Amino acid sequence: MVLATNSDSEEHLHSTFASRYVRAVVPRFTMPNNSMPKDAAYQVISDELMLDGNPRLNLASFVTTWMEPECDKLIQESVNKNYVDMDEYPVTTELQNRCVNMIANLFHAPMGEEEAAIGCGTVGSSEAIMLAGLAFKRKWQQRRRAQGLPTDNPNIVTGANVQVCWEKFARYFEVELKEVKLSEGYYVMDPAKAVEMVDENTICVAAILGSTLTGEFEDVKLLNDLLAEKNAETGWDVAIHVDAASGGFIAPFLYPDLEWDFRLPWVKSINVSGHKYGLVYAGVGWIVWRTKDDLPEDLVFHINYLGADQPTFTLNFSKGSSQIIAQYYQFIRLGFE
Ligand SMILES: *Cc1c(COP(=O)(O)O)cnc(C)c1O
Repeated sequence: MVLATNSDSEEHLHSTFASRYVRAVVPRFTMPNNSMPKDAAYQVISDELMLDGNPRLNLASFVTTWMEPECDKLIQESVNKNYVDMDEYPVTTELQNRCVNMIANLFHAPMGEEEAAIGCGTVGSSEAIMLAGLAFKRKWQQRRRAQGLPTDNPNIVTGANVQVCWEKFARYFEVELKEVKLSEGYYVMDPAKAVEMVDENTICVAAILGSTLTGEFEDVKLLNDLLAEKNAETGWDVAIHVDAASGGFIAPFLYPDLEWDFRLPWVKSINVSGHKYGLVYAGVGWIVWRTKDDLPEDLVFHINYLGADQPTFTLNFSKGSSQIIAQYYQFIRLGFE
């Protein structure tokens, strides 16, 4: 975010090496009056970007900074495809659908006759979490309305260690955030305290698999069991979302016996970032709901003006396709082993 300015300090860019191509100065805050040669534009920008850090040396961020050249090639070949245009690019849509299926299977979604997980690609876990939160909020509203109860005070229970996107969800979509305080020596959400905070207005409890602060996994199984008891006592239907942004592609491989996913009946949705831990460059996340019933139908938009009917649930419309293609590359390239 930036405030617009046209202050006259540092009004022009320093374009030392581009000066072989252009004589005119390049204004910093207003659009230049004239065009410039393409090699000059390239030189000006690439020189200035040298002052950014070097992603390959960036060990502080857990977002992918290197991919195999073959995948770079696929990304380059698909940068001009708009993901939303599913009729024009049906194969890209098919690849995203395969990714959703692979992830739903990886997270043990029930696959019975009546049950089918549902999900989609997103820009990252933050968008995925907004969608998951909205689905819980709408489900809760529907349940309350059907019982003739008020719907003006929804809340969500999380640990105080949640990633900022949960605070964003709460503020943007007007849900009270009830945070379980951390304590000395215990830096994740305590399931018992979380369940104590649950009330009739709780849309869901969000657990984190891979706390942003320490990477520690929260005890989703204990949360599931305590919540099951409380729901049985009260007749409520408070369910769990697992924010597996950073653990969703770790736990299934390193701790296959750990029950944190759809094996637990109260886990209704899970998000994971495709771009963490060496998988895909920034710009891809995933959200999967346990069954179709966990995603209220009235949040799904049916777009038909690009061709056939396409159901979508996203916060944005156009976006690039290359991250989804890159995620599919990683799945088939690395396999489960
Ligand atoms: C990184 C992270 C997010 C946000 O994910 P993005 O993919 O960057 O939008 C949310 N929750 C947790 C636990 C995270 O680690």
